[in-house]
Amino acid sequence: MENVPKDLRNLRACLVCSLIKTVEMFETDGCDNCDEFLRMKGNRDNVFDCTSSNFDGFIALMSPKDSWVARWQRINKCVQGIYAISITGRLPHNVVREMKTRGFRYRTRDMTKL
Ligand SMILES: [Zn+2]
Repeated sequence: MENVPKDLRNLRACLVCSLIKTVEMFETDGCDNCDEFLRMKGNRDNVFDCTSSNFDGFIALMSPKDSWVARWQRINKCVQGIYAISITGRLPHNVVREMKTRGFRYRTRDMTKL
């Protein structure tokens, strides 16, 4: 799996799908699931806006279609990779709006606010 971080420093989790990668990986490839609307690829500012370094727990998602963990985390449509269980942080309003206009619904993964 090439989207799994090899370096455990500078890890951040996508605020939308909770995929965990390094800042460099997000900047180089964007989010494998969400870059269509987050546009982190080649844009470090967006990487810092749309990801958080403050997250808890890891899930290795190997077979998204039949994983109960994936269903529980609502990430069964996502690519294989390492995902966070809970993320502290808020997606900027303009990004939430952009998602809405594209028909995506943003649900916070910040479990501390539930
Ligand atoms: Zn994402």
